[in-house]
Amino acid sequence: MKVAIRDDDTCYFTPPEALERVYHDVWDAVPVCLATVPFAIGYERAGIPREHWHSGAAFPLERNADLTAALKTLIAARRATISLHGCTHQDFPDGFEFQAARDPERRVRDGLRHLRDTLGAAISVFVPPHNALSRRGLAAVGKAGLNILGSFLSFRPSMRPWDRRTLANWWRVRRFRRATGRMKSDRFVYPYVLRYARHAEFGCHSLIPGTTLEELTAGFDEARRVGGDFCLATHYWEVDDRMKQVLLRVLDHASRFADVRFVAAEELFA
Ligand SMILES: [Zn+2]
Repeated sequence: MKVAIRDDDTCYFTPPEALERVYHDVWDAVPVCLATVPFAIGYERAGIPREHWHSGAAFPLERNADLTAALKTLIAARRATISLHGCTHQDFPDGFEFQAARDPERRVRDGLRHLRDTLGAAISVFVPPHNALSRRGLAAVGKAGLNILGSFLSFRPSMRPWDRRTLANWWRVRRFRRATGRMKSDRFVYPYVLRYARHAEFGCHSLIPGTTLEELTAGFDEARRVGGDFCLATHYWEVDDRMKQVLLRVLDHASRFADVRFVAAEELFA
């Protein structure tokens, strides 16, 4: 069984110490997939200076030299991998970036180029800002050949571009939902990789304020029982002492099983 960690929102506004604070005692054992924003535009959240919440100004990652140096060191030490987390992560009046932007194709292209040029990192995974993807956003990401790590991705064929595997995947998810006694409205994380014609998708379990250890271990145990894999997703900027304890205890729970391998999130798709 593969177990991975994804952490969202590394960007120009991220002090390297903020990542160190959360992961210093984690990433030697479990590499962290840092879902990174190449040209961050501010929005309302902790860790982004208030004057940039609505300034609309874009901050290229390369302008934070301390951070890019730290990221390169982390990548070289295999403590971290880099995935693409939108292009600007900006919120539009009518939706999140990969729902509402009119040019998702360009955003994928420019974002990838900037991360590859700035960090020299191999990038094979896309994490949608706010886990939100329109049909066109999904098509743009799939066309670039990037795999998607999401949480609560929609599997409805009407919500996604059609390819030769769409229908079979929809049936797989539906069968799993029925076999586990879930209603259509119940949110759940499908514990296997879904492979489409040009990309693959995998769902993560979110660790946010309020998430309990029991919820996460139940998700892990279910994935384990059915022969699936498990990825935890969180945001370094909201990890407090309580969330950190939950994180450590989930990893501790997972490490009790001899067949569990802690991997970089990219390996979930191998
Ligand atoms: Zn984000």
